[in-house]
This record gives sequence, structure tokens and C-alpha cells, in this order.
Amino acid sequence: MSYQYDSIILGSGLGGLLCGALMAKHGMKVLVLEKNYQYGGSLQSYNRKGYNFSTGLHYLGGLDKGQPLHKIFSYFGLLDDIAYQRLDDACFDVFNIGGYEYEFPIGWDSFRKKMIDYFPDEEVAIDNYIEEIHKVIDLQEVNLLHANGNNEININEYHKINTWEFIQSLTTNKKLQQVLSALNFVYGGVKSKSPLYVHALINNHYISSAYRIVGRSSQISEKLVSQIIANGGKVITNSAVIGIDTADDLVKSVKTINGDVFTAKNFISNVHPSTTMSLIPDGGIKKSFRNRMNRKENTLSAFAINLVLKDNCFKYRNHNYNYYKGDDVWYASNYNSVTWPEHYFMHYSVPHDGGKYAKCIGLLTHMEFEEVAKWKDLDSKKRGADYKEFKEDKAKKLIELASKQFPELKESIDSYYISTPLTYLDYLGSPKGSMYGTLRDHKNPLGSYIHTKTKLDNLFFTGQNLNLHGVLGVSLSAIITCGEFFGTANLIKEINLDET
Ligand SMILES: Cc1cc2nc3c(=O)[nH]c(=O)nc-3n(C[C@H](O)[C@H](O)[C@H](O)COP(=O)(O)OP(=O)(O)OC[C@H]3O[C@@H](n4cnc5c(N)ncnc54)[C@H](O)[C@@H]3O)c2cc1C
Repeated sequence: MSYQYDSIILGSGLGGLLCGALMAKHGMKVLVLEKNYQYGGSLQSYNRKGYNFSTGLHYLGGLDKGQPLHKIFSYFGLLDDIAYQRLDDACFDVFNIGGYEYEFPIGWDSFRKKMIDYFPDEEVAIDNYIEEIHKVIDLQEVNLLHANGNNEININEYHKINTWEFIQSLTTNKKLQQVLSALNFVYGGVKSKSPLYVHALINNHYISSAYRIVGRSSQISEKLVSQIIANGGKVITNSAVIGIDTADDLVKSVKTINGDVFTAKNFISNVHPSTTMSLIPDGGIKKSFRNRMNRKENTLSAFAINLVLKDNCFKYRNHNYNYYKGDDVWYASNYNSVTWPEHYFMHYSVPHDGGKYAKCIGLLTHMEFEEVAKWKDLDSKKRGADYKEFKEDKAKKLIELASKQFPELKESIDSYYISTPLTYLDYLGSPKGSMYGTLRDHKNPLGSYIHTKTKLDNLFFTGQNLNLHGVLGVSLSAIITCGEFFGTANLIKEINLDET
């Protein structure tokens, strides 16, 4: 049988584009189909008043030479012509927990020292914490890009350990327990569920080194798209896949909203697994597999404000600021729509002029989809005055909260732009606008883990719902997905050899 393409990729999020670029680089004829007018998924940026806002990439870790993301970005040419700003060594994240501020420095030695400064009586607990986190990381060889190690995701005992229970077992000091949990917002942590391996990999990712991309995050997707095209591939936007045609346990073709039908030898879905299942007709895939994908629980959605600030009013800070009103940082577990907002993550865009004042900042926090569900079936441009009012009211509350720590903020605002869970649903297609896709559960590690292989022999998954979310997690998932074609160990060897 002749195919139009070697590989068709559904969705142009980071995972889809990395797979596309890697396959095209290895001589495969690739087509990427994207439903939005802009490719990139969470890497999309938008421009207002001449300023660019990144939607789903505010900081990156592991980007020092020799660290995993540096190797991957070097291999994909993502270090060329894109500038990255290293956050302050002494503090890349400030956590204000119930009125007490804690700074996280870059590097595990500095982190240890800082924690002992804050909690001088807790040296043993802090050392035990760091030792155990490193044991978890060392077991996940693929995440370290070890060329000769175990290059599959290793579902081990650390997937079965609950992060919060583990932290509580180390110390009875309530404040230290919260500080060690403080980064959980960046994995949508849930106290009763989040496994230790997610906590360990994410904390290691940022504590190892933390960077901001200078300018818009879409520079990454633009580079990957140019590589796909340069190597003979194609990326078509405004081209939602609306149907996956299957027979004999194989995908035969995909159909787009424009009525086009494309055939390929292999198909990779960068679309959320349950959304992917909705594209396959009844009987087209094993019912038990479909049900398993549909039952996945997802991480909470988000509410975000991107602000343009007046000139020379609001200091640029080379770190993020995380605020927790109460003394419990597990905000997704304590979410309460009545008392909302009780948390925000403030991030800064690096000033274009390299000056000391910020021109653009963002405030980001969780929001449950149910709060906006009543507008979900309306066209995004016709959601009406009450939706606008809802957004404005929430934005004012969030700005009010941030102004308590930054009193100069209100006066500094020129304009702002709001995203709600509906924005994430519209732009990412993840169920209920989930921020980081599926939620991992220590009680059901295998059930909450998604393998790249599906029950159709030539359909594979990639993206944040597999191994881990975030730029590192998605990059590693792309390598594992492409490993089905070229061998994960071979790819890891290439990536290690290629680092400049
Ligand atoms: C608000 C927010 C802030 C974040 N901040 C950070 C951060 O600071 N650092 C970090 O590392 N990570 C961050 N993340 C997470 C990170 O952005 C994601 O984990 C990652 O980009 C997801 O990539 P993905 O490949 O899974 O695809 P996604 O970004 O989920 O993209 C999926 C793509 O598939 C497309 N699609 C869906 N349905 C169809 C269809 N039927 N046909 C065709 N195309 C379809 C979508 O339009 C989209 O383009 C953030 C996420 C969010 C939401």
C-alpha cells in the first residue's frame, strides 16, 4: 500500500513538533496537523500593544551545559538565536507562605545551605530529603539521558510513594514540610495523589538551574516548524483532525475539519488521550483501552492575567514570586471558589532594553473549569457580557491580592489581558482546560501512566500526558515516542554526542 506520509502528527504542541523535527531529520516524510491558526500549543504567544506574551512557558530548568534540557535544546538547535536569561543564583523562586518568605537558590548545595539557614534544627531532615530525591532521579535514567542505561520509563517504588506523606515522614516541622512542598504548583500537585517521582523530577529540574526565555516562547515552535519544513515535512494550521479511520487494529487515515483525508504509515497523537479517543468511532479501538483513557483524572485548570506596565514604575525581578495566603501550599487540594484567590505565581518578561524596570508581568493561579462551564458551548467571541464581567471581577481580585505584597502594582498597570479555563480549552484542547494534562496518582501508578503505544499498532501518543509535563517532560516523551522508530538508546546517544 502506498501512503502519502511516513508519519502524521496530530497537534503541534511542543511534543508534536519535536517528534516532527526528529522524524524529518531522520528522513521521514512528516505532516503535522494543527487545529489552531497558530502552532505550538502551550508555546503559543500573542502580541498586545507591541508586547509579546507567552501563554504556557514562563521558566525552564536543567538548561546549564551538561544538564538534560541543554542537551536536548542543543540537539534541536534551540540554543541558536534564542536568548535565555539565567535567573538569580541566590534566588530563582520566592515563596511567601502565610506571610513568611523563603528563597530557593539554584544548585542543590546552595539549596541545602539555604534550607539549613531557615531551619537550623532540621539538618538531618533536609539531608534525608535531598538524598532521597537524588535516589529517585538516579533511577529515572531516561530523564537523565543516560545513553547506556535503562531507556524506558521505569515505573518503580517511587511512583507508589506519595509526596506529601514522604515529606511528612521526614520532619514534624510544619513550616519545613510546606517549604519542601512549595514547588507543587508547577506540577498541579494534589496532596493525596502526587507521586514522589513527579515531585523529585520537577524540583530537580528547577533547582539544578532556572532560566527565562528572552522574548516570546513561540520562538521555540517557530524553530521546530522551520526544521520540519527544511527537511521536507509539512505543518498545516487551521486543520483540526475530526476523525481517525481505523481497520484491523491500524489507523488508515485521518480526516480534517476542512474535509481533507490524509494517509500515513504511522500516526502520532499529541492531543490529550481522551480527546484522541473521541476522534475514533465506536469499535475502532478496544473498548477497555478507550475507557481507561477516558477515565484519566486531569490536573486543575488556570486563570492568568498578562499585564503591560507603565514605563519605569515596577522593578524587574530576576526571579518568580509565589504567594500562598494560608500556610498550606497544596493549593489545588484546598481550592475554594468562594475564597479565591489565595495564591498567585508572578512571573516577569525580561525587559527588552535590559533595564531595571519590568514592562510585562503575569499573574497565574489555578481555577476550576466548573466556574466557567456555563459558557463552554458558546463561540469564544460570543460569550457575552456576563462572561466578560466574570473575568474582570476575578482579575481585579487577583490584582488586589498581588498589590498587598507589591503596593506599587496597581498604579503601574497600563493594560491587561485575561485567560480563563475556557481559553486553555479553546487553545489546547485538553479536557476542562487542564494545565498539565493527566494527574498522576501514587495509588494507581500503572493506571495513571500512559504509554506511547496504544491498542492500534500504528498509533502512538506523545506530549505532556505521558512521562511528565512541562518542557523537559514533554521533550523526553518525544524522545521516547520517536524511540519506537529509531530506538531510544540510539537517540539518546545522538543527543549526548551532539551537545555543544
Ligand atoms: C498556563 C501554563 C503555564 C505553564 N508554564 C510552564 C512553565 O513555565 N514551564 C514549563 O516547563 N511548562 C509550563 N507549562 C506546561 C507546558 O507548557 C506543557 O506541559 C507543554 O507545552 C505541553 O506540550 P504538549 O506537547 O503536551 O502539547 P500541548 O501544548 O497541549 O498542545 C497540544 C496541541 O494539540 C492541538 N490539538 C488539539 N486537538 C487537536 C485536533 N483535534 N486536531 C489538531 N490539533 C489538535 C492543540 O491545538 C495544541 O496545539 C505551562 C502550562 C500552562 C497551561
